[in-house]
Amino acid sequence: MVKEHDILIVGGGLAGLTAAIHLALEGKHVGVFEMNTYPHHKVCGEYVSKEILPYFNRLGLFPSSVGAVDITQFQISTHKGFLVETELPLGGFGISRYALDYLLYQRAKELGVIFYFEKVNGTAFKNDVFTITTTTNTYTSKIVVGAYGKRSVLDKNKEREFSLKKNSWLAVKAHYQSPDFPNELVGLHNFDGGYGGLSKTESGA
Ligand SMILES: Cc1cc2nc3c(=O)[nH]c(=O)nc-3n(C[C@H](O)[C@H](O)[C@H](O)COP(=O)(O)OP(=O)(O)OC[C@H]3O[C@@H](n4cnc5c(N)ncnc54)[C@H](O)[C@@H]3O)c2cc1C
Repeated sequence: MVKEHDILIVGGGLAGLTAAIHLALEGKHVGVFEMNTYPHHKVCGEYVSKEILPYFNRLGLFPSSVGAVDITQFQISTHKGFLVETELPLGGFGISRYALDYLLYQRAKELGVIFYFEKVNGTAFKNDVFTITTTTNTYTSKIVVGAYGKRSVLDKNKEREFSLKKNSWLAVKAHYQSPDFPNELVGLHNFDGGYGGLSKTESGA
C-alpha cells in the first residue's frame, strides 16, 4: 500500500536526499523515487567544499563519521607542466559518492522518509495534482520536487532544449590505491583538451 505523502521527490541524489532530510526535519511526510538502490558508485570528483558543513551538520550529517578525508592543500598544473601549490583558506573533504549518498540515504530513512526504488517514466500536472508514473505504479501528490539530475529521461521526454543538446565532454572516474599521495591534497592537472583531478576518499583510494 502506498503511504500518503506531503511531498514526493523524484531523484535520490545529493539534491533529492538533502531536500528529503530537510523536509522530514520540518515534520513533512516525504517519499523519494530513486531508480538505483544504495550504496552505488557515481562519476564525480568526490572533493566537497567545507562551505556546506554548517548546513550538513544542521541536518545531522557528519561526513567525518564515515572517514571523510580533510583536505587543506591545492595544487594546479598547466598543460605545459607549470605547477603551483597553495593552502586552501576554507578547504574541503574527500568522500566517495558511494559513501556520501549512502550517508544521506541512511539519515533520510532514520527520519522516516519512504523510498520507492522505481524508475519514473513520466510526470503530469492537472487540476492542481501531480501524477507520477513509474515502470510499475502511478502515484499522486500536490507537491513534487524534481531532483533527477541533469541528464534524465524526464527532461528528454519533455523535449527540454538543454537535454537534447549534444555534450562534447566525457568524464571518467576511478579509485586507485596510492600510499604516496598525500591525504590533505587536491590536485587539478590540465592537459590539452581537459583536466585530471586527484584527491583521496574515505577508503584511502
Ligand atoms: C564529472 C563530474 C565531476 C564532479 N565533481 C564534483 C566534485 O568533485 N565536487 C562537487 O561538489 N561536485 C562535483 N560534481 C557535481 C555534482 O556531481 C552534482 O552537483 C550533483 O551530483 C548534483 O546532484 P543532483 O541530486 O542534482 O543530481 P544527481 O546526484 O545526479 O542525482 C540525480 C538522481 O536522480 C536519479 N534519477 C534520475 N532520473 C530518474 C528517474 N527517471 N527515476 C528515478 N530516479 C531518477 C538518479 O539515479 C540519481 O541518483 C561533479 C559532476 C560531474 C559530472
